[in-house]
Amino acid sequence: MNIRDLLPLLQAGLDRLDAVKAPLGHFQTPESPGLEHVEAALTEYVARLSQNYPFSHPAYVGQMLKPPHPAAWLAYTLAMTVNPNNHALDGGPDASHMEKEVIAEFRDFFGFPDATLGHLTASGTIANLEALWVARCCHPGKAIAYSAGAHYTHQRMSAVLGMNSLQIPTTLAGEIDWKELEQRAPEIGTLVVTLGTTAEGRIEPLHHLLPFCRKHGIRVHVDAAYGGFFRAIAGSQGMDAGPWLALSQADSLVVDPHKHGLQPYGCGAVLFADPAVGAFYKHDSPYTYFTSDDLHLGEISLECSRAGAAAAALWFTLKLLPLNPGPEQPGFRDVVGTCRTTALQFSDELERSKQWRLVSRPELDIVCYFPEVAGGSMAEISRRSRAIMQQGMTAPDSDRIYLSLCRLTPERLAVCHPDLIADTQEVFVLRSVMMKPEHQTFLPELVRRLNHAAASVG
Ligand SMILES: *Cc1c(COP(=O)(O)O)cnc(C)c1O
Repeated sequence: MNIRDLLPLLQAGLDRLDAVKAPLGHFQTPESPGLEHVEAALTEYVARLSQNYPFSHPAYVGQMLKPPHPAAWLAYTLAMTVNPNNHALDGGPDASHMEKEVIAEFRDFFGFPDATLGHLTASGTIANLEALWVARCCHPGKAIAYSAGAHYTHQRMSAVLGMNSLQIPTTLAGEIDWKELEQRAPEIGTLVVTLGTTAEGRIEPLHHLLPFCRKHGIRVHVDAAYGGFFRAIAGSQGMDAGPWLALSQADSLVVDPHKHGLQPYGCGAVLFADPAVGAFYKHDSPYTYFTSDDLHLGEISLECSRAGAAAAALWFTLKLLPLNPGPEQPGFRDVVGTCRTTALQFSDELERSKQWRLVSRPELDIVCYFPEVAGGSMAEISRRSRAIMQQGMTAPDSDRIYLSLCRLTPERLAVCHPDLIADTQEVFVLRSVMMKPEHQTFLPELVRRLNHAAASVG
């Protein structure tokens, strides 16, 4: 699907929205700059936009970035002409109902209880902030704990909330340090478990951690901002179903539709299994919440104004690509399934070659790898990885490839590669996020360009 194919549909949608206003009577719109001024500004604007990295091209295989689905673009663009505000049913009745429906879809997708309370947010950061704030309300004075692989936002937001936070170390085998976790258990109010770490896309063992937490009265918050949509293929393509099935027992969950959900930025989500946490949000507003006695989303959200267009675009996208599609129907499992297959094929290619090594087999669609170096010096691996990234980005168009780097501790790398020499404090490896389905058919060319960049570095 291509945005250009949707332009007639956009036109038709605009016509229908205009028709709704027409019976209210004609009105004058204020004078605006002439079209020639718009055109001049547009020329400058497009020139500025063209300086971005080419996120939509499969030769861009660096960070977690891609344009939204064309359908999301269509829905968002139409909704923007209305500009609903999902703070209250006063400001966005239609988009608020759509938001409640998509939250119900997420609830069923993740196996959360029927009474689940949730809403969309501006981002994964804000969604996590709310989850940690609720954690503080539930266990005042207790700490937030997370692993070394957790997103840095948890440490930061704990500080914002004035909460103690502690990082549970990993053992030399790369597992969570259970001894340390057991020792610190009395201090911990909520444990953050990440399904899909941002750096390496690793899945933490939620199914093993949950029973431990229940025994010690610790709440469990799952940060699936990146990985959540991979629930659609849990139990297939080499993905252990265990952590995903355990999700249904978590206390709260964050997922980012603007990461793997094909949405434009401005779309995170948070879910709470126990609707009683809604009481923590209790507040009064002297000038909203009057049009309906139904739940206004602002009554259970820390943010006030929020883009109703974000909810509308997600709702529309899920109509076309459901989270729980019928057996013959396309859905999100096809989107993330293709990304996962490509990551595995890419890893096979690297493993077959004598000049590359994987940090470890990918658990989602993020692949971390590094060039083989004589003598096995980690400092040299860092130097060469950096040089290959630079080389790829500055190569002529037909050889161009955009990669990213990932910083690891020498201990982390040594878990899988004990033969390497830890002659540096931190080691940089290459990281590629295979999050565009377009990577699949482009893969042979991608590998060619990668090898070309490596050969050019020498
Ligand atoms: C991206 C990410 C976040 C932060 O989300 P934003 O939407 O970038 O604010 C938090 N946790 C994890 C695991 C992430 O991947």
